[in-house]
Amino acid sequence: MSSASRLDSFSEFDAPETRTQSNDQHPRLASSPVLMQSQAVVKSYRKGKIEIPVLHGIDFEVREQEMVSIVGASGSGKSTLLHLLGTLDSPDEGEIYFEGNRIDNLPAASREILRNQYFGMIFQFYHLLPELTTLENVLMPVMIQYPFMKYLGKRRALKKRAKELLEMMGLSHRLRHKPKELSGGEMQRVAIARALISEPRLLLADEPTGNLDRDAGMEILDILRTLNDQHNLTIVMVTHDLAIAEMTDRTVRLAEGLVTSV
Ligand code: ADP
Ligand code: MG
Repeated sequence: MSSASRLDSFSEFDAPETRTQSNDQHPRLASSPVLMQSQAVVKSYRKGKIEIPVLHGIDFEVREQEMVSIVGASGSGKSTLLHLLGTLDSPDEGEIYFEGNRIDNLPAASREILRNQYFGMIFQFYHLLPELTTLENVLMPVMIQYPFMKYLGKRRALKKRAKELLEMMGLSHRLRHKPKELSGGEMQRVAIARALISEPRLLLADEPTGNLDRDAGMEILDILRTLNDQHNLTIVMVTHDLAIAEMTDRTVRLAEGLVTSV
């Protein structure tokens, strides 16, 4: 049984039969409110005296329940943009809004709350903690989120949720394994479960299949598609793989520091 069909059994929603590349042709999404938006975002890096301009004025938006992909050549600024959207870094100019509220200029503590409770993030190299088990890795965000005594009070329910998420990811038999005992696809599925433990409003994914072979990559895509189609999770996914981008609702391309529709 594939991970996707295991996920299917958790939902009462039916998947749409067809995908389109534009929200104009996608009534469900065209009427959805904008969840996150960047306006004229500019970003450069400085290395010594050299300035490396990366983003020149990015206008980007994702609507609730949309699954959008961002494509572009290596070095075009895809990760930079995703990090800015996820408040891991700040733009030099421009603004970023989440649910209509400006977020790029928030104090560090507020940005941390956003990252911990509102955004889930997954990366090409999983970023699991090597000394923790699968189950402990998934619980890590909520252990950080709650004061210790509060965590203890909630531990049973949180553990149950973590186990359910890992079951959805097809990893019930891997709860006590360490990351080094897992395949790449399995590690990414642990990372997805960890990203979902706080019930985020938005999943940001940076090349989630970039380190996986075709089959393992497709399994991850199936999971993300199911989370979007059946659990209404909004997803922004960076990829350099056009075949994978085609599986999303809409694709935007980054080139020369600007966003263009494909
Ligand atoms: P992509 O994800 O599309 O491959 P990135 O956003 O990682 O592109 O990088 C865009 C450009 O910015 C590249 O030229 C890269 O070398 C440069 N860059 C990225 N991060 C840094 C950094 N922390 N310091 C300096 N330059 C960086
Ligand atoms: Mg990148």
